[in-house]
Amino acid sequence: MMLKELSDAFGVSGAEEEVRGVILKAIQGHVEDIRIDPLGNVLAVKRGRNPQPGDPRVMVAAHMDEVGFMVMGVEGDGTLRVAGVGGFDARILPGLRLVFGQDRVPGVIGWKPIHLGHDSAVVNLDRLRVDIGASSKEQANGKVKVGDRGTFDTKYHELGRLATGKAFDDRAGCAVLIELIQGEPFPFDLHVAFTVQEEVGLRGAKVAAQAIKPDVAFVLEGTMANDLPAVEDDPEAPSFTPVTELGKGPALTLADRTVIVDPRLLAHLRGVAEAEGIPYQYKQAAVGGTDAGAVFVTNAGVPSAVVSVPCRYIHGPAAVCDLEDISRAVQLMRAALEKFGPGVLAHQ
Ligand SMILES: [Zn+2]
Repeated sequence: MMLKELSDAFGVSGAEEEVRGVILKAIQGHVEDIRIDPLGNVLAVKRGRNPQPGDPRVMVAAHMDEVGFMVMGVEGDGTLRVAGVGGFDARILPGLRLVFGQDRVPGVIGWKPIHLGHDSAVVNLDRLRVDIGASSKEQANGKVKVGDRGTFDTKYHELGRLATGKAFDDRAGCAVLIELIQGEPFPFDLHVAFTVQEEVGLRGAKVAAQAIKPDVAFVLEGTMANDLPAVEDDPEAPSFTPVTELGKGPALTLADRTVIVDPRLLAHLRGVAEAEGIPYQYKQAAVGGTDAGAVFVTNAGVPSAVVSVPCRYIHGPAAVCDLEDISRAVQLMRAALEKFGPGVLAHQ
């Protein structure tokens, strides 16, 4: 399983070269027709055992980009002004360690020490500066360039069955897709896509789906788990239901902000999970967005479903997921693809 290599790789939206390299190395020899499209998506075909001319075109996608930062300017004192790439909670930013560019120039988001008074107001990124140890504009310009991307200075670790690292959204999905690709062939050809720029508006997936022209699509994600802290102890939140929970299997999306999952595909996934005894859960809130939101409205419309690995603390410096949920997501997708045929979409 490739989660460590994928998580540690750099790949902020629009600067996905490094993570793309990790993915290409992992899938070579298992797929044909590898293409890197003009936006940077990786498209490929995993040949089926017994492909027939009338087979449905099945696309399976995961996004390779991660949220991060972009250098917008350098101040006279050598600190950097940065903008967010993708969505952040501004409360997590002060004091964070970041690395910039392929050379991983280290920096820290500066903040006033607590000794100088406690300020309870949240300070947005546009008022924060990143200290890279430069004492002048010239020195800073020798280390980083305007436009360079920054990511969290985080290394992957395993905590028993759980793992922690950055960018599990969506390197967890990429890990699932790579496992599917490296495994035995499916009855039909599988059209796979590792997409770019999901975090800034589902951009790569739109183009990938236009190129693949699928009849049906499965999108693999790392989605939010808010099962900790154990808020059921909080009297203020008596009816709290987590969006997803770790250790309860892959999460099936009913709907999110961008897509209503095709009911036939949802029924297929649920039926396969139950037949195979694979634990699964539903994503309990119609929040967030995924590449499915772009794919399902391309061409003449593409019935789409989303299967996610629950991950705590996504869009932050360190997420936590359960490696067992990843294995179960692989199991579920493998069985769902093995049993997929025109019959799944035939009945409403
Ligand atoms: Zn994602």
